[in-house]
Amino acid sequence: MCPDDDHATAAPEQLLQQPLLQTLQRIVEAVGAADSTGEALRVLVTRVRTALEVDVCSMYLVMPGRERLVLMATEGLNQAAVGQVQLDFDEGLVGLVAQRAEPVNLDEAPAHARYKFFPETGEQRYHAFLGVPIIHRRRVLGVLVVQQRVSRSFDDGAVALLSTLAVQIAVAIRQAELSGETLRLLRGELPTDLIITGLGGSPGVGIGVGRVAYSQSDLDRIPDRQAADIGAEVLAFRQAVEAVREEMAAIRTRMVDVLPAEEQALFDAYTMMLASEHLIEGTAARIEEGSWAPAALRDTVRQYARAFEEMEDAYLRERASDIRDLGRRILAQLLSQVSSESPMPERTVLIGEDVSAAQLAEIPPERLVGVVSARGSSSSHVAILARALGIPAVMGAENLPVGRLEGQELVVDGYQGRLFIQPGPQVRREFERLAREERELSDGLNALAGEPALTPDGRLIPIYVNTGLLADVEPALKCGAEGVGLYRTEFPFMVRDRFPSEEAQVSTYRQMLSAFYPRPVTLRTLDIGGDKPLPYFPLSEDNPFLGWRGIRVTLDHPDIFLTQIRAMLRANAGLDNLRVLFPMISAVSELEEANRLLARAAEELREEGLVIPPPQVGVMVEVPSAVYLAESLARRVDYLSVGTNDLVQYLLAVDRNNSRVADLYRPLHPAVLQALRQAREGARRAGKPIYVCGEMASDPAAVILLLGMDYDGLSVSVAGLTRVKWVVRSFSTETARALTDEALKLEDPDRVRELLNDALVDAGLGGLVRAGKR
Ligand code: PEP
Ligand code: MG
Repeated sequence: MCPDDDHATAAPEQLLQQPLLQTLQRIVEAVGAADSTGEALRVLVTRVRTALEVDVCSMYLVMPGRERLVLMATEGLNQAAVGQVQLDFDEGLVGLVAQRAEPVNLDEAPAHARYKFFPETGEQRYHAFLGVPIIHRRRVLGVLVVQQRVSRSFDDGAVALLSTLAVQIAVAIRQAELSGETLRLLRGELPTDLIITGLGGSPGVGIGVGRVAYSQSDLDRIPDRQAADIGAEVLAFRQAVEAVREEMAAIRTRMVDVLPAEEQALFDAYTMMLASEHLIEGTAARIEEGSWAPAALRDTVRQYARAFEEMEDAYLRERASDIRDLGRRILAQLLSQVSSESPMPERTVLIGEDVSAAQLAEIPPERLVGVVSARGSSSSHVAILARALGIPAVMGAENLPVGRLEGQELVVDGYQGRLFIQPGPQVRREFERLAREERELSDGLNALAGEPALTPDGRLIPIYVNTGLLADVEPALKCGAEGVGLYRTEFPFMVRDRFPSEEAQVSTYRQMLSAFYPRPVTLRTLDIGGDKPLPYFPLSEDNPFLGWRGIRVTLDHPDIFLTQIRAMLRANAGLDNLRVLFPMISAVSELEEANRLLARAAEELREEGLVIPPPQVGVMVEVPSAVYLAESLARRVDYLSVGTNDLVQYLLAVDRNNSRVADLYRPLHPAVLQALRQAREGARRAGKPIYVCGEMASDPAAVILLLGMDYDGLSVSVAGLTRVKWVVRSFSTETARALTDEALKLEDPDRVRELLNDALVDAGLGGLVRAGKR
C-alpha cells in the first residue's frame, strides 16, 4: 500500500492526535529536565497553560498519609496562595476530583454544589474548570487543574492531554514522595503526627529514632544525614576522589594495548570531570553546610549530570551518564570510610526502601526497636526475622519518605502496620501505654515458660522454635522450647562475604545442637534463591520464587550440598539430636537424589573414621505438589514439616513479598486449610509425624486449627512461643476439632478468622487476637 493510501484511510481523530502527542512530549521533556520537584511542578503548570491556552493551570499534591490536598504550583492564580490553599478530599471541586478519582469537567464551576471559594486565589473570575487526578496504583497523589475565565466546556483534546500527562507524571511524583521531596515541598519540614500506613509485619510497638538502610551502590537512595565531623568528611571525600582518579588511571593503563589512541581519550574526559571545580568544590561546600559527604555528593552529581543533559550537543549530553558513573565510584570509596562512623541510635528504627534480612541482622539486637520497609509483606524474610527477634515491623509502607527519616522520632505500630513520624505527645502516650500492656501480657505469659504444652485433655504438642540466629538460643530455652523446628541455615550464609567453609559450618551447627541438647534441632539445608540471594552467589531471574531456589540449587551444586551435609553430620557426632530438613521439594525424584547425597556424605565420613549417628530426615511441604505427594514423600523420610509461608504463596499465586497483593495472602483461605488437612492425612497414611514450621503456627487463631487437625508439633518464632503455648493449654482436642470442622465448611477467610477470634475471646485469650493477621 502506498503512503498516500495510508493517509487517505486514517481516521480523522488519529490525525488530530499527532500535534497532541508532540505537545505532550515537549511538556514531559521540559518537566523532566527540571532541577527539582518544585521546579518541575512550576514548569508543568506554565507549559500546560500555554499549550491549552487557558487562563489558569494549577497543581495540587496530596499530603502523604492524609486525605488532604495542597496547592503546590500555579500559573494564573495568586502565587501567595501556593502552600496556603489546602483542602480535604470532601471539600471543593479539587477535592471532588481526588475523591472520585476521575476527571471533573464543568463549564460553570461556581454553580456546582461542591464549588468552594478561596479568597487568597482570586478565583471568582474563573468559570470553566477541568481537573484530572494523578493516580499511582489506585492511590491519588494529586490533582492537575485548568480553569478559564469564560464559561466553556473543555473539549476531548484538552481532557486527553491532561489525563495523559497525569499518567506520565504520576511515577515521578511517586518517586519524589519516596525520596521525601514531596514532604519537603509541602511543609519545608516534616509535619508532626504524620501517619504512613503499610502492613503489619511483626506485632508490637516500637518507639525510637530512624536509621535509614540504603543500597551502597545507588547514589539516589542515599539518605539525608548530618555530617558527624565536617573536617573529616571533607577529607574523606577528597581521598575518595583521589582513589577514583587512581582507579581510572589504572584502567587506562590496562587499555593502552587494546584501544586505539583516540578512544583512549575517553579516559581524559573522566579525568577532567574528576578534577572539575563543580564536582569537588560543590560537594565540599555542601559538606561545609552540614550535610554528610554521601548526600553532598548525591546532590552535586545530580546537578552536574542535569547540566550535561540540558546541553544541545548530543555528545555532551551523553556525558551525564559518565558523571553518574563517577559519582557511584566515589560513593563506593567514600562509604568504606565514613559509614561506620555514625553511631547507631540507642533505640533504632531501621527504615529502608527494601530492608533485607542481612541489613536487619547487622544492627545489634539490643538497639533495634522497630523495622519499616517500603516494600515487602509480612511473609518476607525480613519480617520473619523481625518476628523471631520480637521486633515490631511495618512492611509495604509504600509512601514512606525514606530519605527524610534519618534521625526522626518514630513510632512503629506493628499490629496495624502504621508508622507515626514525629508523633505528638498524645500519640506517644497512647503507644507507650500499649507497649506497657504488651510487656505485661508477655510477663504474664512468661509464667508459662516452665509449663508443658499440654492440651486440657492431656495431649502433648511439642512447641519448637524457628531460628537462624545463635542469639535466639537463650530466649528460646527460657521460653521452654522443645527444640528447634527450623534453623534457616541461609542466614549465617547471608551475613558473610563468601561460602562458609565446612569447618565454619560445623562450628555454627555444633553450637546449636549442643545448646539444645538433648532436644532435637532441625537444620534445613540451604534455601537460597527467591528473596534470599547471597551477595557472593548472584542469581538474577525474572521469577525467582518459581526459579532456581532451595533444593534445586543445591542438587545442581552437589559441592555446596555435600559440604553442608557433611558439616551437619559432623556437628551431630556424640550428640545425636540432629534433624535434617530439605526445602522446596516438589517431586519424589528430588527427595531421592537428596537422600542419595546424604547417604554418600555419611559414607564418606565413616570412611574417614568418624562415628556418625544417622540423623532424622524430613521434607518441607511448601510446594503444592508436595501436598498431593505427602504420603509418597513421608514414606521416604522420618517426618514432614509444612512451610505455610511458601505453601500459601504458591497455592494462592500471591507473591509473599509483594505489598500490592498482600491482601490476597490469606493463610486462613479455605484452600490452604484443605491442603493442610490433606498433607496431614498423607503423613498419617505413611505413619509419620507432621509438623508446621511456617508463620501460621505462630498465629493464635490458626493454632486452634492445627490442634484440631492433629498436627504433631508446631515450630514458631521465639517471640510467639508462650502465646502459642497458652492456646495449646486452653483448647481441648474436642473443642479444637469441633472448631476445625466448622472452619472447614466456611468459604471465606474472614469468616474463618472471625470464628477463631471469637473462640479465643470466649476462652479468655482475647489479648492474643491482636497478634493474629487477616
Ligand atoms: C515456609 O515457607 O513456610 C518456611 C518456613 O520457609 P521460609 O519462610 O524460610 O521460606
Ligand atoms: Mg519456605
